[in-house]
Amino acid sequence: MARERLYLFDTTLRDGAQTNGVDFTLNDKLAIAKMLDDLGIDYVEGGYPGANPIDTQLFSEERKLAASFTAFGMTRRPGRSTSNDPGLAALLEARADAICFVAKSWDYHVRVALETTPDENLASIRDSVRAARGRDREVLLDCEHFFDGYKANAPFALACAKAAYEEGARWIVLCDTNGGALPHEVEEIVGEVVKLIPGDHVGIHAHNDTEQAVANSLAAVRAGARQIQGTLNGLGERCGNANLVSIIPTLKLKPEFAERFEVAVSDTQLKKLAHASRALDEILNRAPNRHAPYVGESAFATKAGIHASAILKEPATYEHVPPETVGNRRKLLVSDQGGRSNVLAELERIGVAVEKNDDRVARLLDEVKQREAAGFAYEAADASFELLARRILEKVPNYFDVEKFDVNVEQRHNALGQRVTVSLAVVKVKIDGESLISAAEGNGPVNALDLALRKDLGKYQGYINRLELTDYRVRILNAGTQAVTRVLIESRDETGERWTTVGVSPNIIEASFQALMDSIVYKLFKSGAPVTGAGDQKFDRRPSC
Ligand SMILES: [Zn+2]
Repeated sequence: MARERLYLFDTTLRDGAQTNGVDFTLNDKLAIAKMLDDLGIDYVEGGYPGANPIDTQLFSEERKLAASFTAFGMTRRPGRSTSNDPGLAALLEARADAICFVAKSWDYHVRVALETTPDENLASIRDSVRAARGRDREVLLDCEHFFDGYKANAPFALACAKAAYEEGARWIVLCDTNGGALPHEVEEIVGEVVKLIPGDHVGIHAHNDTEQAVANSLAAVRAGARQIQGTLNGLGERCGNANLVSIIPTLKLKPEFAERFEVAVSDTQLKKLAHASRALDEILNRAPNRHAPYVGESAFATKAGIHASAILKEPATYEHVPPETVGNRRKLLVSDQGGRSNVLAELERIGVAVEKNDDRVARLLDEVKQREAAGFAYEAADASFELLARRILEKVPNYFDVEKFDVNVEQRHNALGQRVTVSLAVVKVKIDGESLISAAEGNGPVNALDLALRKDLGKYQGYINRLELTDYRVRILNAGTQAVTRVLIESRDETGERWTTVGVSPNIIEASFQALMDSIVYKLFKSGAPVTGAGDQKFDRRPSC
């Protein structure tokens, strides 16, 4: 049986841009639009031409996407004609394939917010849709507050939807603007709407205020809607919009939907999903949500040893879908709860060949357990684990030695008579028998140490120039009888790869130093930096490097 087509509409650049703290530049918008296009999204809503300079510029030239590039704006203002409304004019002038109008569909809002009559609201919908159709644009109508409006006055809400459909709007989109509707309500109300308007002209736009925007979107599809609107990573005002990153794999991988429906996203494009999700976080300068369904770093992470050994035999035992289908990967956590199978799986992932019953595996496991008891956290610090494992199982070159370092924190008065705290670090490293001394000031002792350490690494400098510390976390814990400090540092390099390293000591500077050193050594190792006298320093490089 032929599968029905479901359409995906992304509003990251319009509704997603309402998120607190999110401010897209024109280049951000173009990059995200390209990414959505590469994923196979049917509609990319770019913004609100006429509302601000960036959106106006965005729609000033043709954007040549495979997706329908969509402009958003209001229907004509009450009491005006379509030819005498600057907002509508900007929308009609926009270089867009489609126009998405937003209109009231709750009589209460028509009265209170718009201060007009129900009839004038319906006339405004008809006139606006007709004007856009006259310009040969595909038209969508977002029925704002549709579900609340339906509960208050169903005939009026339906009349708004129908008015647009009868004028030739391709899609009537039912919006849960306040995000308070529940899945069973959405299913029931959409079921009523599709009796009047064919389901393949009905869309759903859900907000996440009861954390059910994804469930509401799927409920609408079950009831007959055939377009889903949402955003990447569920970006959006308040609690966000429906998360397309969760919806797309559900539609493609869960038989109930996959057998009945077809989306434009191919299996190959689905594999780009985890990357797209993380790339958006990069643009927003946010740490990715580890626990994000399907794409988060922990989405396929298993901790307990007994689960891990089952997963190795048969992944389906503890995984609802194969992680590689969405571009993610299985992760077996190395931890004091884990066992041999976790360690073996991690070794396989990083490309270290070892026999199952090799004594060194037991030694590594012992070492991990001892260190974790002392406060190290290897399940978060993947790069430190890799270095530890390679040091025990093969060899990690000794690129350089830090002969000494000195960190100084001084509080004094500056030239303006203000009290300031200044940190200065001096580091002495030895590379190929040659000593190099660097000094740096920082906004704190760890920052100064980091800057001094990376200021001059001689022949290795080129490898670490674009190494960047992206996160620094400190925790005080009780390990054994003493309080110790655990430092986790996340780093990133020019390839976009991120890794985490760990250091533990009663002294915060020493703990930070360990984590910084691991990060630099990991970077040199994965870049294949040369070592002096490398003849006896043979080691397997990671195949992925
Ligand atoms: Zn919205």
